[in-house]
Amino acid sequence: MSRRPIVLLPEALRNQIAAGEVVERPSSVVKELAENSLDAGARRVDVELSRGGLALIAVQDDGGGVPPGELALAVTRHATSKIVSTADLWRIATFGFRGEALPSIASVSLLRMTSRFPGESEARYVEVENGRLRDEGPAALAAGTRVEVRGLFQSVPARLKFLRSEATEARRCQDILMRMSLARPDAAFSLTLDGRESFRLPPGQDLAARLARFWPPAVCQGLRPFDFDLDGARARGLAGDPATAQGRGDRILCFVNGRAVQDRLLTRAARNAYQGRLLTSEFPQLALFLELPPDEVDVNVHPAKLEVRFRDEGAIFSLVRRALLQALEVMAPTAFFETPPSREERESLAAPSQRALPVEPPKFGSYREFRSSYGESPVAPFSAGRGGEAQRPADPSPPRPQSPSAASAPVSLGDSGLTYLGQVADTYLVLRTPDGLALLDQHAAHERVLFENMRSGRTRGESQPLAVGLELDLHPSEAELLEEVGADLRRLGFGFREAGAGRLALTAVPPGLDAGKAMEYFRAAVSGQSRNLAGLWTMLSCRSAIKAGDVLARDEALALLSAWLDCPERDYCPHGRPALVAFNEADLEKLFKRK
Ligand code: ADP
Ligand code: MG
Repeated sequence: MSRRPIVLLPEALRNQIAAGEVVERPSSVVKELAENSLDAGARRVDVELSRGGLALIAVQDDGGGVPPGELALAVTRHATSKIVSTADLWRIATFGFRGEALPSIASVSLLRMTSRFPGESEARYVEVENGRLRDEGPAALAAGTRVEVRGLFQSVPARLKFLRSEATEARRCQDILMRMSLARPDAAFSLTLDGRESFRLPPGQDLAARLARFWPPAVCQGLRPFDFDLDGARARGLAGDPATAQGRGDRILCFVNGRAVQDRLLTRAARNAYQGRLLTSEFPQLALFLELPPDEVDVNVHPAKLEVRFRDEGAIFSLVRRALLQALEVMAPTAFFETPPSREERESLAAPSQRALPVEPPKFGSYREFRSSYGESPVAPFSAGRGGEAQRPADPSPPRPQSPSAASAPVSLGDSGLTYLGQVADTYLVLRTPDGLALLDQHAAHERVLFENMRSGRTRGESQPLAVGLELDLHPSEAELLEEVGADLRRLGFGFREAGAGRLALTAVPPGLDAGKAMEYFRAAVSGQSRNLAGLWTMLSCRSAIKAGDVLARDEALALLSAWLDCPERDYCPHGRPALVAFNEADLEKLFKRK
């Protein structure tokens, strides 16, 4: 190839290259335009999209407007009214400052900006097509600014190929405007998609009211406020109850000085604060607002300013962590304990005034209740070990020992080679193995049993019709998710039908679940806490399994052991935690330093 001389690129091409960074997809345009509106002091921002923003993106505000003489400059690269010096870069109080957005957008679309500056007798517009000023003149607009972007990326088909479906692009626009509206609950926002109103948020709402429009009621009810100061930095917001956690991280919303950011440090700090309260597959839900002196954070490290850099990462991490812990400590304990509660905690939970756990797993009063919880025929009787009386697990009402771990003799478990010795710490079942000793975590083991029952079809498909359908209101976000998980829910035994706009009637529930509990699970599934069948099984089994800290009578323990021994993959619970920890003779010798 023959060498070409070095030339300065034409202005339009330079803008297209810059557009590659700032204008990735329709939602980037929505973000830039709405930010300009807020920077101009707008109290209301109305956004209209058609065909996911590909045909039209229009953003109109009631802000300060642009003087007629500056309109053409507004769409010129590196032209901004927001900073004038390098020092200003370190005290940025506006969303924009690079002077790149309008010219970048205008280089890959047909952009028309109309603005009425206070005191002017009329509004004016400029029109730029693919980077070339096409037209300007007087226009009709009572106040503020309206920017219309048509045919985004039509002139650069290569960029169109990177876009997803119109519905997905529309959802991203919705998401970005939602985030902005949370940072500015004082301002009004509206979004219209193809002529249909998607949301309309009145001015002067508080954060909780705004979130209630976007997050399911079950999640919003559990939100707790936090507000924490440390060395001149502040972290405030709302934190979700761990009991309503979901398997996705899309409800971790972080803002730094009012700017929505996706920041790994903040996400890590949040997950760290929730550690021990969530399973590893679960994510917390929160809206976190960090307020820092402007020179503590560099916002000029990402063209779309989605990422930021903190001067003192360690300080930010501990600020966020401590702020969230403040909210979490006032919350009720979660439905399952990663670590067993202390005796005092258990006693205080048993007090009648404190019995209202968010989700209370069934506690099996008797062997029969225990067995019927997963609807199976009784186990083959186990034979008693040396010196023991044979227990008859199939007996419909076995005597319940006063203290289950005392008075009880070893029982050998069929031909498994295992002998049940007793329960310790109200959590572990102690087993003698052919060459040593093993501890079985009763919660993990029961989860595995319930999970296998669902997976093997013992639960799947069966369903228990309700005499009277239970009606429930569906939040728009829940209705959307129901379309995705509906088939899975039916396979699990749920039956349901539409009962008017935004309402649903639950007509059948999985066997072994009472209507109230079934309703709770159904809600959890449609509020996004679990996306696929295995996830739902895991959740159902976790929520229904006996807990660490539950005293098990010997017949209850034996029933659990028998069902657990039948499970494939029985050494692990469905989340992947070990259910069984074994010590063979060599391990024991090592522990006692005999070797
Ligand atoms: P930046 O926001 O980084 O300054 P932009 O290209 O987004 O760069 O906008 C250029 C300039 O146009 C802004 O600095 C501002 O003065 C003006 N402007 C843009 N949008 C609006 C609006 N909606 N209302 C008033 N002025 C606006
Ligand atoms: Mg801007």
